[in-house]
Formats: sequence, C-alpha cells, structure tokens
Amino acid sequence: MRWEDFRSSDNVEDRRGEGGGGGFPGGGAGGLGIGAIVILCIIGWVTGINPAVLIGGAEQMMGGGAPRQEQVDPQTQARRGTKPADDAGRFAAAILGNTEDVWKEILPNQTGKQYRPTGMVLYTGGTRSGCGSAKAAMGPFYCPLDKKVYLDTTFFKEMETKFGVKGDFAYAYVIAHEVGHHIQGELGILGKVQSRQQAAGQVESNKLSVRVELMADCLAGVWAKNSNDRFNSLEPGDIEEAMQAASAIGDDKLQKQSQGYAVPDSFTHGSSAQRMRWFMTGYKSGQTRSCDTFRAAAN
Ligand SMILES: [Zn+2]
Repeated sequence: MRWEDFRSSDNVEDRRGEGGGGGFPGGGAGGLGIGAIVILCIIGWVTGINPAVLIGGAEQMMGGGAPRQEQVDPQTQARRGTKPADDAGRFAAAILGNTEDVWKEILPNQTGKQYRPTGMVLYTGGTRSGCGSAKAAMGPFYCPLDKKVYLDTTFFKEMETKFGVKGDFAYAYVIAHEVGHHIQGELGILGKVQSRQQAAGQVESNKLSVRVELMADCLAGVWAKNSNDRFNSLEPGDIEEAMQAASAIGDDKLQKQSQGYAVPDSFTHGSSAQRMRWFMTGYKSGQTRSCDTFRAAAN
C-alpha cells in the first residue's frame, strides 16, 4: 500500500512507553469486562480469553454510564499529543488519517450522516480505556464508550509470528476493521445489537456478534475501494494480503489452532471464508449499504 503520502491523523494518542501495566490498578484480564462492551478482535482465543463471554456481557453497557476518565498530568498529555516518529506509529497515524479522509467524504454521501472521526490510542503492554483495562494480549479493539481504537503496535509483529500474516495492507485492514466498528457505533448499529443480545441466549448472541464483525470487515473493504479510487493507494498483492489476514484470523482457523477443532456456534467473528467474502463484498461495491450482514444470509 502506498501510505507514505497519506495525511497523518491528528486523533492519535501515543501512550507507548508509559510503563506497560502501570495504568491499570487491579489489572489482569478480569478488568476487561468492567463497565462496557469491548469489541474484541482478532486474537481472543490465542490468549485464552473468550470474546464471546465478554461481548455477551454487554448488558453492562446500557447502564454503563460515562466512560472512565483518566487523570494524566499535563506533561504526559503533551507527549501523547506528539505525532509518532517510528515506522509503526507513523503507519498507524497515516492509515487512520486516510480512513478519516475517505469516510468524511463517503459516509455523508452514502448514509446522510456526517463522519466524526474515532480516536486511536497506541500503547504497549497495557493502558486504561473507557471500557476498562486494555492489555496487549487482547489484540486491537474498539471501545464504543470513549470512541477510541486501542492498538498495541507490537500486534503487527504478532500477526507475522503467530499467524504468518505480513504486509502493510494486512495491517491496514486490521485498523480499517476497527474503524468499521466506530462507524457501526455512529450509525447506531452497535447499540441496537447490544439490546438484542441482552434478550438473546448465548448461541443467538454469538450469531449477532458474527454479523457485527463481518460488517466491520465489509466496511474495511468499502474503505479500501474508495481509498484506492481517490488516492491510488493499492499496490499489486495488497488485496491478497488482506485476504490472507482475513483467512488466518477467522474463528474456525483460530479455534482449530488452539483446540484442534472448530465449534461454529461459538464463533463470534465469522469463519475465514465469511470474513474474506465480506471484505470483498465491501471492496467490490465501495458502498456502505452492501454491508448489511443482518439482512443477508450471512452464512
Ligand atoms: Zn472486530
């Protein structure tokens, strides 16, 4: 992907090097479910945390109230506002900036809604999110309460070592997928799904989660198509990289890797084939409306 000329986003908060676990008293994975749903992505199983359980715990969201505010001194605040200078940080800020430039234009055209950008927090080890503690082991996620994407940039390395997925477009796809969750939040979809999940059993609740995840994949595809149309940003092999990523991190593959067999009812992100198909649906059409995974037979 030709990303070097992308506008760097002003909405990146760089918390890397702030001492890992320092920011979350009580720490531990148990801190995850505090106060709100976290849209957990990508590597739940690998770390032994079951995202289905967490997402199923969404009832707390409705009564969750305001996100937790973090107290930081002015010096830390100033440092967080500085644009990242390292490769991974520059890359993340550039991709986020490009998602802003693209969605700012196409969301109003396609849905009549203005695009208000998501924030992005870069961290290492652990940090505090509006949805509770963030830990690197959770993989990238979006917190709808503070409207921020949380990304430990070492995750890109992990994609390569654990899943054999590499290439800048594969990483961009991960960021675009998280931005997709933000758009779902902005369109009111996350809220609706969460209320339906409250009334549903575990199996039905997982199915709803799958549709949310596949829609985020599709929205990543919509971004990729429009980014390429406007900025000529794709290079040969990029789409294959995204497909490789989608294929490697489908629930069926992850489950097979961790337990040797796949259990469809427990899927919350969708199978590899579904994830690839929905990314391509968004990529081919470039249209947000093509991503209605709830209406489509998403199976
Ligand atoms: Zn997701």
